[in-house]
Amino acid sequence: MMNRIFALCAMAMLLAGCSDGEQATTETAVDDTKVYHWRMVTTWPKNFPGMGTAVEVYADRVRKMTDGRMDIRVYGAGEIVPALEVFEAVSQGTVQMGHGASYYWKGKVPAAQFFTAVPFGFTAQEMNAWLFYGGGIELWRQLYAKYDLVPIVGGNTGVQMAGWFNREINSLEDIKGMKMRIPGMGGEVFERAGGIAVSLPGGEIFTSLQTGVIDATEWVGPYNDMSFGLHQVARYYYYPGWQEPGPALELIINKTEYDALPEDLQEILEVAGRAMNADVLSEYTARNNASLSELVDKHGIEIRRLPDDVIAEFKRIAKEVVTEVVDDDDPLTKQIYDSYSQFLENVSSYHEISERAYINTRGSGGQR
Ligand code: CA
Repeated sequence: MMNRIFALCAMAMLLAGCSDGEQATTETAVDDTKVYHWRMVTTWPKNFPGMGTAVEVYADRVRKMTDGRMDIRVYGAGEIVPALEVFEAVSQGTVQMGHGASYYWKGKVPAAQFFTAVPFGFTAQEMNAWLFYGGGIELWRQLYAKYDLVPIVGGNTGVQMAGWFNREINSLEDIKGMKMRIPGMGGEVFERAGGIAVSLPGGEIFTSLQTGVIDATEWVGPYNDMSFGLHQVARYYYYPGWQEPGPALELIINKTEYDALPEDLQEILEVAGRAMNADVLSEYTARNNASLSELVDKHGIEIRRLPDDVIAEFKRIAKEVVTEVVDDDDPLTKQIYDSYSQFLENVSSYHEISERAYINTRGSGGQR
């Protein structure tokens, strides 16, 4: 009898995964047969080149890496919820995941804008450095936890273009009263410079510009802008993309759903996100070049640089706008701003003598 009790105790300890004298811990066993059927809503049209196709690849990779245990179905803007309701839908648990850009939520979470793009802020390389090695992603997680969300970095388009215009911009006067699609802090800067900024999802840009609802627009760069046919409804294509020098895209997951996942699936979602983040930047870097040539050579688009005084004024206003996002009653927003600003100051000093110095030295045209 005593032997039998001893044997049962030993087995119980073994199952609990502890040795004699160690306190038994209650660990939930991983159910590796359970299949998670998730839905992901996006702010882009279904399969839109780059950002839309990247999420399909993400879902495929996750399916393969989990041997089918994680089945994510991707939906384009408007299929389940409109583009600009992605944050709400995932936060409330209507769907488990979303893909978009955090600055779309500036009305609800002003500090979220730091995690997409800041006018005259980080390039893509600097953004990734801040997020992964400068404490950025931890701050982003803290910020989104309040909304029951977990963010994963989900792509970067690199430096964008300043946008499409139907008239030349020779001075600030030309911007007065101009209605332009330009989201985030860039939009706020444009407003203060005398324009009217509107935030439209990508899928609504072409028609809005064609019908005169807006006079100008920025979207991404040659590759994506040509996909939407923006060259058919505007003549001048301006640079540099002061408003979005290295915008990050986001994958968002409902935190309650995320916390209920086994650890291996959580890790796969994260690592697949990192792969996607690198892929998107490479894809845009490769394809923007080819699309730019086509826009100029085939479609006769005129490429123009914004005048120096216009850029200088945007830059002056941007400083005010970025500083004003800081809310003294909200310590986390202040912390995000401080972290971003400090990192920018440090990284830009080094990039003066590395990235910028090198690119200036090389010039354009490569070695041929
Ligand atoms: Ca943009």
